[in-house]
Amino acid sequence: MTRTFHIIGAGLAGLSAALALSARGERVVVHEATAFAGGRCRSYRDATLGMVIDNGNHLLLSGNHAALAYLRSIGAEQRLVGPPRAEFAFVDLASRARWTLRFNDGRLPWWIFDRGRRAPGTSALDYFGLAKLLWPSPGKSVGEVIACDGPLYQRLVEPLLLAALNIDPPHGSARLASAVIRETLGAGGRACRPLIARDGLGATMIEPALAALQSRGVAVRLEHQLRGLRPGAERIEALDFGNETILLGAADAAIVAVPPYAAAALVEGLSVPTEFRAIVNAHFAIDAPAEQPPILGVLNGMVQWIFAFPGRVSITISAGDRHLDTARDILAKTIWNEVAAVTGLPSTLPPWQIVRERRATFAATPAQDAKRPGAATRWRNLALAGDWTDTGLPATIESAIRSGNRAAALVARQAA
Ligand SMILES: Cc1cc2nc3c(=O)[nH]c(=O)nc-3n(C[C@H](O)[C@H](O)[C@H](O)COP(=O)(O)OP(=O)(O)OC[C@H]3O[C@@H](n4cnc5c(N)ncnc54)[C@H](O)[C@@H]3O)c2cc1C
Repeated sequence: MTRTFHIIGAGLAGLSAALALSARGERVVVHEATAFAGGRCRSYRDATLGMVIDNGNHLLLSGNHAALAYLRSIGAEQRLVGPPRAEFAFVDLASRARWTLRFNDGRLPWWIFDRGRRAPGTSALDYFGLAKLLWPSPGKSVGEVIACDGPLYQRLVEPLLLAALNIDPPHGSARLASAVIRETLGAGGRACRPLIARDGLGATMIEPALAALQSRGVAVRLEHQLRGLRPGAERIEALDFGNETILLGAADAAIVAVPPYAAAALVEGLSVPTEFRAIVNAHFAIDAPAEQPPILGVLNGMVQWIFAFPGRVSITISAGDRHLDTARDILAKTIWNEVAAVTGLPSTLPPWQIVRERRATFAATPAQDAKRPGAATRWRNLALAGDWTDTGLPATIESAIRSGNRAAALVARQAA
């Protein structure tokens, strides 16, 4: 029997579900509300800068195995670039001290015994304290499990968890922090190599996926927003797109891979995270100095990470909600002053762009984490995907892709 899988949302969760199902020879149609695929992970041409930029700098790690498998499946793995080893350069704006964390490849963390590789001001013993985060009791916050102060916290734990959880770490879910630590530091340097999409998220993660889907005959219908689902007792009977209703046959199924607030409006009685955190990115059209590392962590500043791209320096501020109402030009100047101080670039403001994503991720608190649903719904032919579904990870590319794979496997099994 021919069956069709309808994927709602062409973010990474929806695209990975579509890729997984079409790779099995299934008939798939993707429906996306906006005029572009990629969702929160996208590139666009910015008129002010006259170049293609990403909505936000995205960092992957070599241990993000689902994301790397996704890239391999679309022939784009080589488009992610990073240093050959797990190294993270840092600068402290307060003391002007600079150092580089250098993890060793294997699981046994001998780098913590080497003063030249670990964070300055820390001792090897400090790192054993992190073990408390590995198996925290349910419902605890990071601040309830470890002491959120001291050099190890400030120079390693805080920047790592702030970037991964997008929340002030003491308030973050210890369960999610634990998953991050287990899959990064706990897995050894081989899993911690930083990777970035040097030519942009679109060229790396989205366009090759769309090309792969097209080659498999998958239709991606843009500007095709799902308005409602028609639920029956056990199955979803139809998809309502306003000017078009698609009836679902006995073997057809759908995956809703939209953000949580959109999913709650579509799926009756669904529990979803309801609080969010912002991410602020600033992009400057200027070449970084030749000696500038591609990714630089900044402590004791407003800026948290500086990325050097060809012809552009971009910065990230996670949990950036307090900067949402600051005037854009003031924000750009303040950020640039920090970037100039760190890089030695002239203090004259280059052409700039600020991108503020208000609902970049759900707020990774224990309470919000507890609201995340799994992939299954009470309807046999409807599954959920998205970085906000309960993947056990914070809202990241890896979480989105794992959720898409999981939902695809579920509907394929249930519709069989
Ligand atoms: C600024 C920023 C920086 C980030 N940095 C990182 C990082 O460094 N590393 C990392 O791993 N992750 C990062 N993330 C998180 C990452 O981008 C997300 O986890 C991931 O893109 C989420 O994918 P998704 O498919 O779950 O959701 P989305 O990307 O939100 O996709 C959902 C899609 O559904 C569509 N849609 C909504 N409603 C409907 C409807 N009714 N009908 C049809 N379509 C609909 C939307 O238009 C959208 O295209 C960052 C996010 C932001 C915003």
